[in-house]
Formats: sequence, C-alpha cells, structure tokens
Amino acid sequence: MLTGKQIDALTIFNYPDPVLRAVCTPIESYGDSLEALGRRMIELMRAVQGVGLAAPQVGLPWRVFVIAAIEENGQDRIFVNPELSDLSGRAQAEEGCLSLPDVTVPIDRATRATVTACDPTGQRFQMTTEGLLARIWQHENDHLDGRLIIDYMDTQAELVNRKALKALKAKYEAAQQDQR
Ligand code: ZN
Repeated sequence: MLTGKQIDALTIFNYPDPVLRAVCTPIESYGDSLEALGRRMIELMRAVQGVGLAAPQVGLPWRVFVIAAIEENGQDRIFVNPELSDLSGRAQAEEGCLSLPDVTVPIDRATRATVTACDPTGQRFQMTTEGLLARIWQHENDHLDGRLIIDYMDTQAELVNRKALKALKAKYEAAQQDQR
C-alpha cells in the first residue's frame, strides 16, 4: 500500500501511458490506507467533474474504482475487487474518459448490471442498477482489464478522434523525453 504522501501526490494518467493497459491485480489488504486512496481518487475525479475513476488512471494497476453520486440520495462510493454480473439490455451512448481528453466514442453497453465488491474495510456489498450508472460501472470495470473506450471505435469514431489521439501521443512522448 501507499504512504499518505504518495497518496497526496497521485494525479491522473493519460493515454497512451502503458499503466492504462495493465490487467489489474486484486487488492489483498484492506484498511485505512485503502480508504485514503479511495478518498483521494474521489477528490481527483470531482476536481475534473468526472463521474468515475479507476486505479490504473492514477498509475496503480489495482482492482479499485470510484463512482460519483449521480443519483438522488446517492453517495460517492469506493469499489474494491468489483465483479459485474447479470448484464442485460443493450443501448448505445457517447462516452468520454478522464484519461482520454477530447475523445468520445459511441459504445453499446448493457443497460442493467449488478456489481459485487468490497468497501475499503473489506465488507462485501452488492448493488443492481440501470441506465447511466450501469454504463459507468462497465466503463470503470473495463479499466481494470486494461480496456479503453478507443477499443470500441468503429471507422467513423477513428476518423473523428484521429487528431485528439495523435495529440495525446505527442504529448506523452514529449513528457517521456523531458524525463530522460
Ligand atoms: Zn475512463
């Protein structure tokens, strides 16, 4: 796990950083440090008006994501070792991603889903939802397997996003150069 200082220093990683392609490993130790990580991820997500953020997006290849409260009486929530089940229905909508600024891709997803996960203390919980929240769960769960919205692009979406992706790659390469 991480120290408080390391948690404070976390930032959002952009495509094409290789950590976004990692198949993330399950969390095995629960407690305060994991809770602090989740809180920090919620803070980072909120700062950029995001609705979800997965651990690989802050450089950590671990099976954790956070979701913003988008429903009435909902709350920001931390999902540890989440598993989706009972996916049903099908609908298409445009999706963006905090790690892919200026990129949007129309994606077919199930409209209804159940998630089973643990909270940072290791307590298991299960929720079922539909609509936008079900879509966000699927998007964030994809991150834990190294899957990104650009993997769903058809020829049209490739054309639309070509410039933005090229710019992201150039920015990443320039940052790598600076580090050397
Ligand atoms: Zn994303």
